[in-house]
Amino acid sequence: MSAIVDKLQAVRRRINEATAAAGRPADSVRLLAVSKTKPLADVLAAAAAGQLAFGENYVQEGVAKAMATVDRALEWHFIGPLQSNKSRLVAEHFAWLHTIDRVRIAERLSEQRPPHLPPLQVCVQVNISDEDSKSGCRPDEASALCHAVARLPHLQLRGLMCIPAATETVLAQRADFARLRRLYEQLRQDGLALDTLSMGMTHDLEAAIAEGATLVRIGTAIFGERN
Ligand SMILES: *Cc1c(COP(=O)(O)O)cnc(C)c1O
Repeated sequence: MSAIVDKLQAVRRRINEATAAAGRPADSVRLLAVSKTKPLADVLAAAAAGQLAFGENYVQEGVAKAMATVDRALEWHFIGPLQSNKSRLVAEHFAWLHTIDRVRIAERLSEQRPPHLPPLQVCVQVNISDEDSKSGCRPDEASALCHAVARLPHLQLRGLMCIPAATETVLAQRADFARLRRLYEQLRQDGLALDTLSMGMTHDLEAAIAEGATLVRIGTAIFGERN
């Protein structure tokens, strides 16, 4: 248990150092703790150390953890690929969704979001490295998709998310993150009120913060390797 607290502190230190090195304000990067495949006890250990935002990739697992913690002020983010037949569960149990990649799923989520809840906070996922195997919309589709999502009543569009291709060097990592940041800045200039660039994981959070990430999604460095 205390190992999680120590690792959480080490991650916060990495974030603070990267933020300072980039000359950015100290509170400009949020930490999302990615707890997929890890037991609820690990979530509770991190929560006891002040971590309130958690990310999950699998609908059933995430819903179970969200339901087990409804009496706590935790914020659950869905960050995995989403099939249409699971969208209702996400609309009902999560505060955020980072992986909108098509209009139809956004429309479904907006229809399914219970009216007594605040709008589902969403990011559009962009396939920034143009890989065949990765989910996310193409960079040249992002603008139309974002404008369509922004019009849906029960979603609130917050920004963009990416999972770049694995690259060896920090320079190559930064090039992908910089592409997402430029797209984000363009959309803001077009009048969309975006405030979230969801990018950076355990191995590349420094590069992501250097390129403007406002939210990093960290699993392994907090909870250890996954099986
Ligand atoms: C698993 C996952 C993470 C966390 O990755 P780590 O390398 O363990 O930090 C972040 N984002 C997404 C979309 C993931 O699936």
